[in-house]
Amino acid sequence: MSRVIQLTVLGSTGSIGKSTLDVVARHADRYRVFALTAQRQDELLFEQCQQFKPRFAVLLDEAAAQRLRQRLAASDLQTEVLCGMEALEQVSAAPEVDAVMAAIVGAAGLRPTLAAARAGKKILLANKETLVMAGVVFMDAVRAGGSLLLPIDSEHNAVFQSLPRDYAGDMNASGVSKILLTASGGPFRNTPLSGLQNVTPEQACAHPNWSMGKKISVDSATMMNKGLEVIEAHWLFNAPADAIEVVVHPQSVIHSLVQYVDGSMLAQLGNPDMRTPIAYALAYPERIAAGVAPLDLIKVAQLNFTAPDLERFPCLALAFQALRAGGTAPAILNAANEVAVAAFLDRQISFIAVPRLIEEVLSALPVSPVKVMEDVLAADRAGREAAHELMRRVAVSA
Ligand code: NAD
Ligand code: MG
Repeated sequence: MSRVIQLTVLGSTGSIGKSTLDVVARHADRYRVFALTAQRQDELLFEQCQQFKPRFAVLLDEAAAQRLRQRLAASDLQTEVLCGMEALEQVSAAPEVDAVMAAIVGAAGLRPTLAAARAGKKILLANKETLVMAGVVFMDAVRAGGSLLLPIDSEHNAVFQSLPRDYAGDMNASGVSKILLTASGGPFRNTPLSGLQNVTPEQACAHPNWSMGKKISVDSATMMNKGLEVIEAHWLFNAPADAIEVVVHPQSVIHSLVQYVDGSMLAQLGNPDMRTPIAYALAYPERIAAGVAPLDLIKVAQLNFTAPDLERFPCLALAFQALRAGGTAPAILNAANEVAVAAFLDRQISFIAVPRLIEEVLSALPVSPVKVMEDVLAADRAGREAAHELMRRVAVSA
């Protein structure tokens, strides 16, 4: 077996971050934690420091960083505490680091993930928003940096496992005719349309199959998550919008499929547990135990498939529309979605106002080409400002 891998976990206190550390703890002989990071959860980060003894712990929030420094000073741990966005970039690009788990949620993950790409790290990409916002710039950085990009999102991990090992982004050359992303349909797959008006953040976050952070849980309930994943698949596999199909599969057993020109379909199946794709990417191209029970096919018994209902889930259509528009449209979509989801979680807007707000922002802002990162950041700012402005206007007129 190869030497010990030094790992930075961006967003270690989140759902993906915790699952990553669960897998790492099972293989202490293979992995050492170089850095752990969080926004402001210093208590949990301190516990993680006790267990994994990283060289660095980074918090975005200064007060939380100060608290963590005090806790560490009172312990015998050698972990150094850093603070802020530049520190996140630093622990992603540090020469000692072999691999970076990119598991910050939202646009905040962009800069450190990009830093890892530029530094040529192996990137375990959970932060889909990076690809949605900045696909062209990020993929260029991955190529220029010589970085190995491994998808953690269960669908994309399944597609990656079902593509030929030497797949180089040419669907035709590999005989691939379609990529099929499965979707559970979320908690409101069968809710009467009239009932969607009044659903609460708690109901939206209670996903039937997966336990995840709040933002992605709401995205799953609106199916914007699948929309973001369509854009993610476009960049990861160089697949045009027309070659990506979404299939609703409520059991979440088939994590996605690849269709070939000869009529074959290859899929990856498993229990819905993110430790499987995480372990796959950590050990790639080897396989390691993830702590996940094998799928009991007899117990599963049935697999169902339906087409997505775009009236119920307008966010999915909006994401396809943004992908086809290209340029800054996906960054605007992502920005408006982040503002809308935060406002819904904060009970400022209703569940059905989420797609409405995104649609209005998309139609209000012009789309321009993306050449450099500043184009992406400008579109992100414009999308957020337009979303806030629209919410203010509605609040005033209501
Ligand atoms: P989460 O909310 O549980 O955790 C987010 C992590 O990011 C936390 O450690 C938090 O401290 C950190 N963070 C949040 N805002 C930050 C900021 N502004 N600056 C720095 N750090 C910040 O989220 P999650 O469910 O673990 O999802 C993480 C990413 O993985 C998302 O992009 C999500 O779409 C993707 N993903 C998650 C799952 C899942 O099962 N949870 C599955 C597929 C993809
Ligand atoms: Mg997914």
